[in-house]
Amino acid sequence: SKVPPTILNNGVEMPQLGFGVWQVPDDEAEQAVGTALEAGYRSIDTAAIYGNEEGTGKAIAAAGIPRKDLFVTTKLWNSDQGYDSTLRAFDESLAKLGLEYVDLYLIHWPMPAHGKFVETFKAFEKLYADGRARSIGVSNFLPEHLETLIEATSVIPAVNQIELHPHLQQHAAREYHAEQGIATEAWSPLGQGKGLLEVPAIIAIAQKHGRTPAQVVLRWHLQLGNVVIPKSVTPSRIKENIEVFDFSLDTEDIAAISALNEDRRIGPNPATFDMA
Ligand code: NAD
Repeated sequence: SKVPPTILNNGVEMPQLGFGVWQVPDDEAEQAVGTALEAGYRSIDTAAIYGNEEGTGKAIAAAGIPRKDLFVTTKLWNSDQGYDSTLRAFDESLAKLGLEYVDLYLIHWPMPAHGKFVETFKAFEKLYADGRARSIGVSNFLPEHLETLIEATSVIPAVNQIELHPHLQQHAAREYHAEQGIATEAWSPLGQGKGLLEVPAIIAIAQKHGRTPAQVVLRWHLQLGNVVIPKSVTPSRIKENIEVFDFSLDTEDIAAISALNEDRRIGPNPATFDMA
């Protein structure tokens, strides 16, 4: 594959760049994921709440790529937290995907006020022990939530998938993850394509390298060591977003992008978000 792996804390190899499918309708997911697999992506990031595990699974089946060469992530939705409900929700996700195991299963949000993420993760540990999830992790966990989890369970999460882009650089979280051996995975790595790709400093770096702003932002993540999962349904952009392994940013380019931090979230605050 053209995408190098990140080695997770259990030795499993996760492609450092994958394809995200949030907001891709189920009936468009098959085509979008199919385009991504053709372009060389081998990692797909979906979730029960995205409603497109079936379309994703169809694309995977149609591609005929050996299962061991794929890395499939899905996530447990908030309303299914709890030990037994997690095991049931996992069975449903697996059936929709048409798979016998996932490569990574994530708790989508911590919902700390509900006090269920520890028992939820204990169900994840069972799925991991049974080999039905090759790796288990979390999403949107603040360091304080990870501390509680690590204290109360025996498997350290392999990954924490968090909102992360040049306007929200998450220095404290990245440092804590590194100390604990947890891989940092960036969601909305392109800042959802909104203002970020029009920032003059990013455009200037793109022009210097003869690349696009999206490619420059992805390269910044990769050189920092983040796992990224950019999303697009446009074939040319799907291809563009994986063509980032044949150039590198210079030290001063990295510094200029790192100067853009505003600690500004696009998405919800993990401390309080509890949509069911
Ligand atoms: P993103 O940062 O990947 O941006 C996607 C948008 O950027 C596209 O819809 C398009 O408008 C634009 N874009 C993409 N490629 C482009 C290009 N080459 N040139 C110009 N514009 C381009 O945002 P995202 O979809 O929010 O995040 C990526 C993935 O992260 C999601 O699909 C999902 O898998 C995951 N995610 C997870 C959570 C979570 O809570 N765990 C939350 C949000 C997203």
